[in-house]
Amino acid sequence: MVGASAAGLTAAESLRRRGWDGHLTVIGEEPHPPYDRPPLSKQILTGAWGPERATLRSPPDLARLRADLRLGQYATALDVPSRRVRLGGGESIGFDALVIATGVAPRRLPDSDLAGVHVLRTLDDAIALRAALRARPRVVVVGAGFLGTEVAAAARTMGLEVTVVEPEQVPVRRPFGDRIGALVAELHRDHGTRLHCGVPVRRLRGAGGRVTGVDLGDGTTLPADVVVLALGAAPATGWLAGSGLRLGDGVECDAYCQAAPGIYAAGDVASWPNARFGTRMRLEHRMNAIEQAMAAVGNLLGDATPFAPVPYFWTDQYDTRIQAFGIFPPDPEMRIVYGSPSDGRFAAAYGHRGRVVGVLGWNAPRQVRTLRRMVVDRAPWTTFAAIPALSPAIVN
Ligand SMILES: Cc1cc2nc3c(=O)[nH]c(=O)nc-3n(C[C@H](O)[C@H](O)[C@H](O)COP(=O)(O)OP(=O)(O)OC[C@H]3O[C@@H](n4cnc5c(N)ncnc54)[C@H](O)[C@@H]3O)c2cc1C
Repeated sequence: MVGASAAGLTAAESLRRRGWDGHLTVIGEEPHPPYDRPPLSKQILTGAWGPERATLRSPPDLARLRADLRLGQYATALDVPSRRVRLGGGESIGFDALVIATGVAPRRLPDSDLAGVHVLRTLDDAIALRAALRARPRVVVVGAGFLGTEVAAAARTMGLEVTVVEPEQVPVRRPFGDRIGALVAELHRDHGTRLHCGVPVRRLRGAGGRVTGVDLGDGTTLPADVVVLALGAAPATGWLAGSGLRLGDGVECDAYCQAAPGIYAAGDVASWPNARFGTRMRLEHRMNAIEQAMAAVGNLLGDATPFAPVPYFWTDQYDTRIQAFGIFPPDPEMRIVYGSPSDGRFAAAYGHRGRVVGVLGWNAPRQVRTLRRMVVDRAPWTTFAAIPALSPAIVN
């Protein structure tokens, strides 16, 4: 396994659970034992948890894997014909089968090396950002996707002055559309977070090597002591350049998560055609990392089962948990099918090409689990089409 996080660890554990007894090497660039990323932008950033609580397995559990765990080592190249992975130190490791689970790396801006500019992907990033937030800085978050909005919520929960900048008109617009985006914007404004939506960032401003602000496209300058870049991430495939594997948006696999004979990919780095939805996808979701790693290992051992999950994602912001099952294509139909946004508790169904393709729950875990069945069954959209599209509660 290359990558020793959610997907790489799950792949290793699945191999053992399925009775495979041979030699197993897990290579991970980070020095820490495998840990969980979702708490980094939530409990660890607010300080509700110490960093050690993100650890995924105890030392005895890791020992039971009987793996040659190469932490702090990174793969620099893959030679497919000779079936070898080269490491940073020059060593090369042979394999009969390989699982690529190298995840993604955060995008940055020019001048990202100014002191006070942070990204949040790793435990070390979270520890550094947490330390910076404790000095009670003025915080500007660039990007209002899930990561950006979670960081803003965590910083506001700590009582800090927080501004979020987003080129789209509303937060999280790309996955969930304008109406849910408007509700997320309202949630943040209600908690005192400032939002600058519909404005691009022009550049970071600095003095003496330290960030002092963010210049926006409309001529505004937002003063800042800490800037968090939450601009999305790119698949960590640099080490695979020249390997001959198809690298598009991530490692391009077939429906069985296989990129080449005996070479599989799983988690954030992998793209594959999901037959359930008839579309190629790459997901940056915690649950998918586990499910895909198990599927890849199953196929490596001969299952020959296409990987066709219903994607699941959640985000926690202030006192709100948003959960989403399924897919959210651009311009879907959407109906509130339970509760009401004004009560802070509702579920919405999304339709596309005559089928229910996604459900979203806003503090509605039970309802969204029930509705998930309709996505699994690809229920006809006529079930919901009769509900008025613009419930007055949603229009703000
Ligand atoms: C702050 C944060 C909050 C999140 N919150 C949520 C959430 O609320 N809900 C949700 O569903 N998902 C969330 N996610 C996404 C979720 O954590 C990821 O989907 C999941 O971690 C993917 O696991 P992975 O193993 O595929 O990749 P990663 O966790 O990225 O692990 C890849 C590992 O491979 C290592 N690596 C990379 N290149 C090399 C190399 N060449 N050699 C060796 N090692 C290498 C990396 O250092 C890394 O440790 C969050 C992510 C972050 C960063």
